[in-house]
Amino acid sequence: MDLGLEGKTILISGGARGIGAAIARACARERAVPVILDRDATAISELQEELRREGLASERILADLTDVAQSSNAIGNFAAAYGRIDALVNNAGVNDGVGLEQGDAEAFLASLNRNLVHYYLVAYTLLPFLKKSRGAIVNIASKVAVTGQGGTSGYAAAKGAILGLTTDWAAELAEYGIRVNTILPAEVITGLYERWLQKFENPEEKRHQISSRIPLGRRMTQPKEIADMVVVLLSPWSTTTGQQIFVDGGYVHLDRALA
Ligand code: NAP
Repeated sequence: MDLGLEGKTILISGGARGIGAAIARACARERAVPVILDRDATAISELQEELRREGLASERILADLTDVAQSSNAIGNFAAAYGRIDALVNNAGVNDGVGLEQGDAEAFLASLNRNLVHYYLVAYTLLPFLKKSRGAIVNIASKVAVTGQGGTSGYAAAKGAILGLTTDWAAELAEYGIRVNTILPAEVITGLYERWLQKFENPEEKRHQISSRIPLGRRMTQPKEIADMVVVLLSPWSTTTGQQIFVDGGYVHLDRALA
């Protein structure tokens, strides 16, 4: 199916690795131009080189989204120079384990800065361009927003707030033809996830324990499977807006008796 993304410019935050990189690849393979925003210059270059070898175009923005002034300048300058942005995927984030028992208010605020504030910042900065293109936004949240995890108040609060932003933006921006949706991944094998697994005494046992509880295939989700849903939601043929979509092999919703 032609998703109608050819020639569209799609900015992906945290686009150099993991889920973001898979989204950049999926967009490029639809002949869109992914704008890879990340703080790791080497990882951006490696992904751009990989895409170039496949004959696919991409653009880059080097920015750390926790630095509000620097990143809003970098994004604003890029969009002004490039002239158009058709879609935004807010994806950068980290499950940073700022809990209630171990943590403090400063650490909590820093976690919101790492995981939430820049979703607003990037959307705000790109809004004039998205209005012009009648574009689409996909916000990457997490199952933690609805299941909790324990010991990660900042991340859980940020991901919960992203669900709220999604429905509020979908309502506010419908009159401009801008659709806004959120995907809630769970247990997706990426660098972030591997680092989290390594915190357990026996990471392989933990990996097996979690996989065995995923009803569809007893396996973790692959980044490409999140990316495939993103490109469908970004397609101009889609009329879906304000939705929360779980791409998780049934992990969050199906009967626990299946485990
Ligand atoms: P990842 O493998 O760590 O990749 C994220 C990329 O974003 C990295 O290149 C990272 O750079 C970059 N990044 C993070 N914060 C940034 C910032 N402030 N400014 C610029 N770049 C930044 O993570 P992932 O697993 O793909 O996760 C992507 C999203 O999915 C996150 O929002 C995460 O919460 C969500 N998610 C993932 C899972 C999962 O199972 N993997 C489950 C639920 C939700 P660094 O390497 O320097 O940090």
